[in-house]
Amino acid sequence: MRVVVTGAAGFLGSHLCDHLISKGHAVIGLDNLITGATRNIEHLAGNKDFQFIKHDVTEYIFVSGSIDAILHFASPASPVDYLEYPIQTLKVGALGTHKALGLAREKDARFLLASSSEVYGDPLVHPQREDYWGNVNPIGPRGVYDESKRFGEALAFAYHRTHGVDTKIARIFNTFGPRMRSGDGRVVPNFITQAIAGKPLTVYGDGKQTRSFCFVSDLVEGIYRLLVSEVNDPVNVGNPREMTILDFASKVAELTGCGSDIVFEPLPVDDPKVRQPDISRARELLGWEPKVLLEDGLKATIDYFKGTV
Ligand code: UDP
Repeated sequence: MRVVVTGAAGFLGSHLCDHLISKGHAVIGLDNLITGATRNIEHLAGNKDFQFIKHDVTEYIFVSGSIDAILHFASPASPVDYLEYPIQTLKVGALGTHKALGLAREKDARFLLASSSEVYGDPLVHPQREDYWGNVNPIGPRGVYDESKRFGEALAFAYHRTHGVDTKIARIFNTFGPRMRSGDGRVVPNFITQAIAGKPLTVYGDGKQTRSFCFVSDLVEGIYRLLVSEVNDPVNVGNPREMTILDFASKVAELTGCGSDIVFEPLPVDDPKVRQPDISRARELLGWEPKVLLEDGLKATIDYFKGTV
């Protein structure tokens, strides 16, 4: 396939480019580099199967030649980033998804949207199944991300129903691994860089809120299986192993061997209290489930940050 990846220089986008190239596909990567970084794709420079175009996908996307698939991964993705870029976040989820879908329609290509567990907001159903409609505060600070992903899903479905575009929707749960940006503010880079620097780990709230962390290699395999499947309904892609943020802090402290203390800081507004994917649909329709143990993924991520911080 000849594939376009938006957000190619981001954490997930860059791993996806690697995965697609390893499967024998040619990739055209687009990114405006506001939260992505060229160092995430510099190892692909000179690769005949990779081309990078610096472009803001909220503007018209022009790609010559035939395209078989478009994966729309462009977006600020950490709460800190989307609070810094609220309007760009809404624009890339709305206008960017529109442009990427327009390209898919024009090229008769399949389309995959990187959606999010944030479409479930602060969920009242636990674990979250795809048929749960969510509990989102549209005007809260996180609403810019949550609503942009919800709008993106609605637009993808409209293109599917109206124009017959073969659209796929991956609802991605917390994912971690090498190439996360050390300053992106998410819990994984924060705790690891704090522990390595011998600083206390910043737990927000009482730390009893839960998350379920998926290693990036599992995630990209799930995305790939969804892309090549015939499924058009949304599919949760994540690791169902759930833990409190306090337990996660202990795990990071233990694996870094830094024995860090914990300091409690205020909980961000609308921070979801629980989050765990129900992955029955992915298991059944894609034959996919995560394989990498949290501990093994964390060790690889700690090694990455030790080399870069
Ligand atoms: N969190 C924390 N300390 C940090 C960063 C985040 O306790 O330094 C908490 C945050 O409040 C949330 C969870 O960790 O409950 C996951 O946060 P993250 O920003 O990684 O992503 P989210 O799952 O909220 O989108």
